[in-house]
Amino acid sequence: MLKLPIYMDYQATTPLDKRVLDAMMPYFTDRFGNAASKSHEFGWYAEKAVGLYRSKIAGLIGCEPNEIILTSGATESNNLAIKGSAEYYSRKKKKIITVPTEHSSVLDSCSSLAKKGFEIYLLKVDKFGLIDTDELRNVIDDNTALVSIMTVNNEIGTIQPVEEIGRICNEKNVPFHTDATQAVGKIPVNVNKMNIDLMSFTAHKMYGPKGTGALYIRSRGPKVKLVPQIDGGGHERGFRSGTLNVPGIVGFGKACEISIQEMSAEYEMIKSLSERFYKGISLKLDDLFINGHPEKRFPGNLNICFKQADSGTLMMSMKEIAISSGSACSSEAVEPSHVLKAISLKDDEMRTSVRFGFGRFTTVEEIDYAVEKVAECVKRVRGIFNRVLQK
Ligand SMILES: *Cc1c(COP(=O)(O)O)cnc(C)c1O
Repeated sequence: MLKLPIYMDYQATTPLDKRVLDAMMPYFTDRFGNAASKSHEFGWYAEKAVGLYRSKIAGLIGCEPNEIILTSGATESNNLAIKGSAEYYSRKKKKIITVPTEHSSVLDSCSSLAKKGFEIYLLKVDKFGLIDTDELRNVIDDNTALVSIMTVNNEIGTIQPVEEIGRICNEKNVPFHTDATQAVGKIPVNVNKMNIDLMSFTAHKMYGPKGTGALYIRSRGPKVKLVPQIDGGGHERGFRSGTLNVPGIVGFGKACEISIQEMSAEYEMIKSLSERFYKGISLKLDDLFINGHPEKRFPGNLNICFKQADSGTLMMSMKEIAISSGSACSSEAVEPSHVLKAISLKDDEMRTSVRFGFGRFTTVEEIDYAVEKVAECVKRVRGIFNRVLQK
């Protein structure tokens, strides 16, 4: 039986996998200890769990467990990577290179540094949201403290050429940070193969709990330096003080373990559902197109422009389907999405774009229901638009 409403907003957050919840449960009750308590069994159990699940997180991205710094989420990881690097280099290097399509936690961290005298260089993106690696080659210099470019875009799904970007940064000895929140657990990500020095990701975008994330910090070849942004008891090798969220970390690690086993099959399933959805609505509707790159994209993220169908009206008319326009973080604001703006969409195209997100628990039945519903509602909203035009 189809249950309504249908969740199609997997880029905002993902449902918690039941297996993840089961792994977490004991750490809320019997095994409640503080992982930093060295003098008794309660602490030892918690510390042991953190060690075990940290190594599962490391396993997913191909690094050593001690290169994983546990945080409260990708927002904090992005702040630590960017502000921490800038502060470390602040005397000698004053330039940070990033992209206008980044998540607000990257862009706002950069704005805050701009007020402190840093130069923020924004690379151009083309109409698909891709950077030009030649431009990066031209602007990266001895004054550059950090390059921060996301792996998969959260609004349009475009995948940047991360491996090549990392190689360019390596050649120039500039640390490379990537916000891989929408990539880890969904497409293969290996920090060594992809030449990544710093990488942010978070549990709740990959079927884990909210409030737990990680920053990968390269410790060898070469070791990456940054200044901690939260001081205190010296947890996480001094990079991030604060009592560890043990149940959250266990859940994060379990989510990583499941991804290692299921990612490739799941990717194929999501791709086929996404194609089924787009084919379905394309047969029923004209005047629509996909925002973002046609091939270099994560298929679970389908941002579609339905010309002449205002996204707000459209979403109101189909409450049975949970989707979003723009990113969830700015859904309170009426401002058009900075990502759609950056890929040079026209004003009316920005106002008529919505994002469908598919994932682990999306079913064929949900897709088929959504195809019918979306087609019906887009036609209805376009009808209203045309009646208004005629008056
Ligand atoms: C969700 C998201 C974030 C923020 O992650 P939190 O763990 O919710 O702080 C950062 N970057 C991208 C690309 C995201 O999709």
